[in-house]
Amino acid sequence: MTSSADSPLADFLAYTLAGSRPATPQAARGECAGGVRWQWLDEGVVELEPAHVDETTRSVLLSAGVHGDETAPIELLSQLVADIAAGRSPLACRVLAVLGNAGARRAGERYLADDLNRLFGGRHARVPASREAPRAAALEAAAQRFFAKAAGSAAAPFARWHLDIHTAIRASAFEKFALLPHTGEPPARAMLEWLADARIAAVLIHTEKGATLSSFTAETCGALACTLELGKVRPFGQNDLARFAGADAAVRRLVAGELSLPKGAQMPRIFTVIGQI
Ligand SMILES: [Zn+2]
Repeated sequence: MTSSADSPLADFLAYTLAGSRPATPQAARGECAGGVRWQWLDEGVVELEPAHVDETTRSVLLSAGVHGDETAPIELLSQLVADIAAGRSPLACRVLAVLGNAGARRAGERYLADDLNRLFGGRHARVPASREAPRAAALEAAAQRFFAKAAGSAAAPFARWHLDIHTAIRASAFEKFALLPHTGEPPARAMLEWLADARIAAVLIHTEKGATLSSFTAETCGALACTLELGKVRPFGQNDLARFAGADAAVRRLVAGELSLPKGAQMPRIFTVIGQI
């Protein structure tokens, strides 16, 4: 057991923003409630693994704060990590929790030099001097290592998930919506049902490949991936987290191993979009 005081999990957000890191390799991993094993892999990157893992165990990448000013998703993710560590939120999936642009978050900015969510799929190599380029490369590598150990699609369909959680900067006809990367395939029923469970009313599907983290994990890691836009950007402490309750509950059900469409949930409307949003 690791005590919560020196564990990065008790307050993942504060630990990351303080620039803390485990002092020794032994301190970078541990076991928490329910036999959940954790490992600090990089700044703002923690892997959590349930006590029991087999060839059907789902792997779920949860990212927030790819835009440093989008505070509500960061708060939700940090709270989820704390709740899993304390046994308050059950874990049946491998989870990689990622606080995307920690440097921009520290500065209270959306990004420092370049929009991190336009640098994936290797585009960071075109701007090697950008302050975001090393982070884009590091997150790509972390996602690839995480999914390399994931169950394959033959053993377990829909075993790889990635939810990249954002808040929108512009007012939108839909307060909450999801963006699905272009994969050349129709959207997976499992993802649409999960979005319905998360009370997401609209799904936008890209018709071309993008430079987002969810495009990268869909294309390179074979993940069922989406970018969630959950309402407006606000400063820390001014988020009405109740407005995010539907998505938060659905994320918790997903990592708890529950994946079913609740009765009465409305399937989202689907739109196609040309180009980037
Ligand atoms: Zn964003």
